Amino acid sequence: MRTFEDTYRHKGLRMQLVKVLREKGITDERVLTAIQNIPRHYFMDSAFDKIAYEDRAFPIAEGQTISQPYTVAYQTQLLELKPYEKVLEIGTGSGYQAIVLGEMQAQVFTIERQKKLFDEHRKFVLRNKYPNIKYFYGDGFEGLPTFGPFDKVIITAAAPYIPPKLIQQMKVGGKMVIPVGEGHVQRMLRLTKQADGTAKEEVFENFSFVPMVEGKNS
Ligand code: SAH
Repeated sequence: MRTFEDTYRHKGLRMQLVKVLREKGITDERVLTAIQNIPRHYFMDSAFDKIAYEDRAFPIAEGQTISQPYTVAYQTQLLELKPYEKVLEIGTGSGYQAIVLGEMQAQVFTIERQKKLFDEHRKFVLRNKYPNIKYFYGDGFEGLPTFGPFDKVIITAAAPYIPPKLIQQMKVGGKMVIPVGEGHVQRMLRLTKQADGTAKEEVFENFSFVPMVEGKNS
């Protein structure tokens, strides 16, 4: 069961979490403010109310996870997001990352391949608060050609390789943040699209994500 009440206690726990994220090196104030404002416990069963504000990933439905707050903050910071930018997210999952982007006033397009997870968002309480987030059921390897080109792309599952269609759907100068690698560990990359269509690559820390899988799952 989930409860949708945001108390002073929850807000206090979030302040603690933001402090932890600062200590771990997150400096983008807009990212930290978004995390301060979003009730992460709404995304989990009420039995895990307190755990919601510990800096760790947590299982949700369908064997998937809600990413660790540090990972969400880290990827979002690497995006260097500006208000009203068009952002494509692959792997909606719990929807938490999408709402962080929405809270930062991005125009968000998020894709989930698991029908059950996608359907859950239809009834999620925070959904109406963010008309700037659009949810899609589909295969993230394909992207959303009719809604591009995008300023930013964020992949929240472990990509076995850089999906070429997603590079195509980026604006020149646009950035993609993507954990690449098969197996237990992935390397976080930031790609910047060049005028000739290729991507300049920067390499960051290692993370551990659930795999990005081809095709849809009903
Ligand atoms: N952004 C999420 C983290 C989700 S975990 C959050 O904030 O909670 C990764 C998600 O990616 C899972 O829900 C998984 O089903 C989804 N996924 C994996 N491969 C995908 C693909 N090809 N297209 C879209 N979603 C995919």
